[in-house]
Amino acid sequence: MGAVQNWLDAFEKALKTGDAKSIGSLFVDQSFWRDYLPFDWTLQTVEGWDAIATFGACNGPKTRFSNPQFEGGSDDHEGLFRFRTQDGAGRGHIRLENGRCKTLFTMLEHLPEAAEPADTQSEPFVLIVGGGQSGLALGAQLQDMRVPYLIVDKYPKVGDQWRSRYDSLVLHDPVWYDHMPFKPFPADWPVFTPKDQMGDWLEAYADELNLNVSTSTSLIDAKYDEASAHWTAQIDQNGACKTIRPTHLVMALGLSGFPKVPNFKGQDTFQGPQFHSSEFQGGTDFAGKNVIVVGANNSAHDIASDLVRVGSRPTMIQRSSTLVVDQTDYCERILGPLYSEKALENGISTDKADILQASMPLRMMERNHKKLWDGIRSDRADFYQRLTDAGFEVDFAEDGTGLGMKYRRTASGYYIDVGGAQMVMDGQIKVSSGLGVSHLSEKAVHLENGERLSADAVVYATGYGDMTDWVAALVDRETADRVGPCWGYGSGTKGDPGPWIGEQRNMWVETRQQGLWITGGNLSQARFFSRLLALQLAKRFEA
Ligand SMILES: Cc1cc2nc3c(=O)[nH]c(=O)nc-3n(C[C@H](O)[C@H](O)[C@H](O)COP(=O)(O)OP(=O)(O)OC[C@H]3O[C@@H](n4cnc5c(N)ncnc54)[C@H](O)[C@@H]3O)c2cc1C
Repeated sequence: MGAVQNWLDAFEKALKTGDAKSIGSLFVDQSFWRDYLPFDWTLQTVEGWDAIATFGACNGPKTRFSNPQFEGGSDDHEGLFRFRTQDGAGRGHIRLENGRCKTLFTMLEHLPEAAEPADTQSEPFVLIVGGGQSGLALGAQLQDMRVPYLIVDKYPKVGDQWRSRYDSLVLHDPVWYDHMPFKPFPADWPVFTPKDQMGDWLEAYADELNLNVSTSTSLIDAKYDEASAHWTAQIDQNGACKTIRPTHLVMALGLSGFPKVPNFKGQDTFQGPQFHSSEFQGGTDFAGKNVIVVGANNSAHDIASDLVRVGSRPTMIQRSSTLVVDQTDYCERILGPLYSEKALENGISTDKADILQASMPLRMMERNHKKLWDGIRSDRADFYQRLTDAGFEVDFAEDGTGLGMKYRRTASGYYIDVGGAQMVMDGQIKVSSGLGVSHLSEKAVHLENGERLSADAVVYATGYGDMTDWVAALVDRETADRVGPCWGYGSGTKGDPGPWIGEQRNMWVETRQQGLWITGGNLSQARFFSRLLALQLAKRFEA
């Protein structure tokens, strides 16, 4: 028998005893155990020998971890395995170091098959607010687990959120990373999906899976009643007010909160149009004009590139530095080992890739990404030098850990380059770096150093607020404050203060407000975390 199977058998035995010493002896000192539900019904990473021994002793006996089966891996010291617990079937991943465990990942995959819900016409057990990819993926998972749910979306058609974005938008992530659960993209799908095609796909997804979606329906207000443990949710359905009483409320309202528009002196005197990037519909109205784009991240670059294509003269105001990555590097070096045609040829299916990705605790991911980014930085020194020479300030995250960690910390501060960087180098997109805006006048934007930039229009590509904005608007401020900030993992870097949490804050787990959950993120997160969120809701439904 191989080393991994031997370890798993010893682990099963030790867990049964609940003896911290025997459990701990199976792990190296600086080890990690990331548990996604089977042992403690939450998403968490336990770090270090002591904490792991205690965690295993507290949760081991009751979990009834059994029948672990190594599925094979790159060698006999690392790989995937299946197991059972008292709650259902799980899958995991392990890395051994001299026979002891360095990283362990355990994840629940299935509860025992549920019976049909007693009355599918009654109140939904779960109300999902938002029918974008996150809401739809969760609906599909709940349907699979036979949990009554309703998705409401304010738009008339599923997919309108993507359709409403600027014309030139094409997904920056490649198709292998983007599959939705139960219905992957067909083999001939473009590698980078244009935004309207993405919207159409989501609409077809909801239709074909027969998801319970009510469009042109907005949540107006939700109040939780502690005594009955139910929400009273007021919805506006095509102009008619209705009340529904779900047990759980899931906010699936996007990766962020409301558009952030800075307040500058003189905004009221500026004579041209000024608006947030989320309202940008395309550059055609601005041909031949000077457009100031405040910001220098993804949206700013996409918008400025679009403006160049229609013959206008954009200037990006870059207040602080930006991480830029060439899309080829992003797809081949960052995502490629797990999500690419090559990965599929190597036997790494999407399911397997998701587990491999989750198997890496964030502390180790930071270290690995630092090395990866040191490599990208040196191999692409010429590219970064040319950007710097054009007056653009480049960073690689404040600790050099790159794009993936920036995404997990603040989901901002980067550009996946699809042509904008060359336009900056060529001077087609002008950049003003290191300075903020001082004020606006009738026909200009003025910088803090006194420089005057002639402007016919201003686009604020200045990002979005926190997801808890939605909680404050739809529930109340007190609840939003109790829930606290969403996203980030306590890395202690700018925008993501400590203490260290090691998982995305408040995401895909019940928040401090009973019955309130938050989901969101890119397509890959919608796919993977929808299952884990649905399992937690299904467990509560079963109870
Ligand atoms: C410009 C841009 C480019 C992006 N590019 C990519 C990319 O390349 N790859 C990627 O994976 N991600 C990308 N993202 C990020 C992310 O995938 C998208 O923001 C995505 O739309 C998030 O999906 P979601 O389901 O979490 O939320 P959304 O798609 O934002 O869906 C939220 C839904 O909630 C609805 N809603 C809002 N308020 C209410 C209410 N009160 N009642 C009922 N319904 C309501 C809205 O109508 C909307 O349909 C991009 C985001 C932006 C802004």
